[in-house]
Amino acid sequence: MAYLQKLTGAQPLKLRDFDPEFDAGLDKETGEEKLKKLSAELTRQQELLYAAGTHSLLLVLQGRDTSGKDGTIKTVMGPLNSLGCQVASFKVPTAEELAHDFLWRIHQQTPGKGEITIFNRSHYEDVLVVRVHKLVADKVWRARYDHINAFEKLLADAGTIILKFYLHISKDEQEQRLLEREQDATKYWKLSAGDWKERTYWNDYTRAYEDALNRCSTPHAPWFVVPANKKWFRNLAVAETIVSALRPYEKQWREKLEVIGQREKAAIEEFKHSKVTQK
Ligand code: AMP
Ligand code: MG
Repeated sequence: MAYLQKLTGAQPLKLRDFDPEFDAGLDKETGEEKLKKLSAELTRQQELLYAAGTHSLLLVLQGRDTSGKDGTIKTVMGPLNSLGCQVASFKVPTAEELAHDFLWRIHQQTPGKGEITIFNRSHYEDVLVVRVHKLVADKVWRARYDHINAFEKLLADAGTIILKFYLHISKDEQEQRLLEREQDATKYWKLSAGDWKERTYWNDYTRAYEDALNRCSTPHAPWFVVPANKKWFRNLAVAETIVSALRPYEKQWREKLEVIGQREKAAIEEFKHSKVTQK
């Protein structure tokens, strides 16, 4: 069963129409059981993706502070083989990055064939934080939606499967999580006065996210709004969405693997044969 609706840009959305508490009527225990099975399936899919080497997978994670980007990466992507899987985290751009176009630093981190890359924040920051804090002129960030769509089309045309997740938490839930961080010494490294400051821009971010989701949802690079107040459901929904998106590719990856296997076996046979005739 699909837990998340695939946004393709046909219908403009409002975030208030998505319930951050949604859990599809499941309980935590059932959710965790389902996640275990999906994780095993995702691991098998990664092997096929890697072995076939025809596609790459780009997962984009966006969300407000404390929405669970780190937690999702740890839980959903943790079981994957690190050989073909990387995380790219995008922070405040460096002077060198700012001296280039906004996609320059992003393009360098995109996955090669057979690889999976998870973006912890992404090029969308350039129409989110940059817009909210007026870091560039209006006309500069407004032009970026088209740039992003063209960029993602380029990646998709080159064989990149793109899935974009907005982790949707409520304002109350964010407050709880910020307060919890202050009580938990293991989370002190995440403390940031900036998070409380960003929170005062809540409505500006809502508008910026709605525009990004509405303008940059395409069939080849869809957005998914992930109800994220319940961490276990967030993890389940993200995992299920990835596994379902990869299923249609499995057959062709197996076929490609078969072709590679037959070709290499023939080469090995030829080599063995040449050894025999040399003797
Ligand atoms: P964190 O995800 O907690 O490590 O924080 C990274 C910070 O970098 C966040 O406050 C982001 O808003 C900020 N950031 C990421 N990309 C950009 C960007 N392109 N321009 C300005 N700030 C950014
Ligand atoms: Mg932070």
